[in-house]
Amino acid sequence: MTQRAGRVVVVGSFNVDHVWSVAKLPDTGETLAGEYHTGPGGKGFNQATAAARAGADTVFVCALGDDIGGQLARALATADGIDLRDAHSHAPTGTAGIYVDADGRNCIVIGAGANASLSPAFVADQHDLLGSASAVLAQLESPLAAVTEALRIACAAGVVTVLNPAPANAVASPELLALATVLTPNETEFVALLGRAGIDSPTADAIGGLGDDALHALCRRLHPRGSVVVTLGAAGCFVSHAADALRGDTSGTYRIAAEPCQAVDTTGAGDAFNGALVAALASRPGAAFAEHVTFANRYAGLSTEAEGAAASMPRQADFQARFG
Ligand code: ADP
Repeated sequence: MTQRAGRVVVVGSFNVDHVWSVAKLPDTGETLAGEYHTGPGGKGFNQATAAARAGADTVFVCALGDDIGGQLARALATADGIDLRDAHSHAPTGTAGIYVDADGRNCIVIGAGANASLSPAFVADQHDLLGSASAVLAQLESPLAAVTEALRIACAAGVVTVLNPAPANAVASPELLALATVLTPNETEFVALLGRAGIDSPTADAIGGLGDDALHALCRRLHPRGSVVVTLGAAGCFVSHAADALRGDTSGTYRIAAEPCQAVDTTGAGDAFNGALVAALASRPGAAFAEHVTFANRYAGLSTEAEGAAASMPRQADFQARFG
């Protein structure tokens, strides 16, 4: 199948985020006043927005309801030049209710709604699109059978796949994990994956403090044939790159420090990282993996300087103004 240079296909969720900023999180039965705002979210849509704004020709495969949330998603996708492949659903568009306290702690309830109706059959209908992409990116916020189908099609066609194994409580099968060219957990997700695989590890807080050899050994046991990038928040990321995963590159184990940033809101930083990583992989397929990760690390850092999830994704001009 002919691969279209630079085209990214993101398979995932869209949510309308309803966010209340409160002085403290409510107790059972308590009524509180808070400041409200709403905006687009969902890991899939955040990552698709990042990929598009980072310069990739981006297609977003999702399921939306026939309601105001669905209209919002379509309008925002059009504004960012994202090509939507929407499995129209009778369920309401996905929503998230989020309380954030003055210290940045949060409580989140997700109503998957239409996202839950993204089916393997609809994904299989996108066979030619997935098989001709330069890279395919998915998360675990959509039905896992649909995600597995997307990566299975991509892998069979030799397309690079990135799996962001988030949220941490979603249980990906070993088969699904094995379909990822690159796995991109944060510390919490990494520890959850290791635990489910029966691999002893320290707590999430201690992951970043492990030596490179120990971290590399954990990555190799978890994902023997692919690469792993563990994102470490304000400490940047750790890379365990398996050369076999990407043709023509050399293996390597290294850390990339976070960019010094004036972080005001780290919501969606991981989504920024994933969208930018896949955009880089798709647009410069011959470049060294370290260059792609460096781009993603910078892009994600810059995203923390603006409020919001999808809304905080930097545009190319902002990125160039900062990093040249
Ligand atoms: P998630 O949002 O999934 O929890 P992380 O918190 O690990 O993901 O952040 C993802 C990436 O965002 C990091 O690897 C880093 O590149 C960037 N990042 C996050 N927080 C900061 C920060 N305070 N300063 C600079 N970069 C950051």
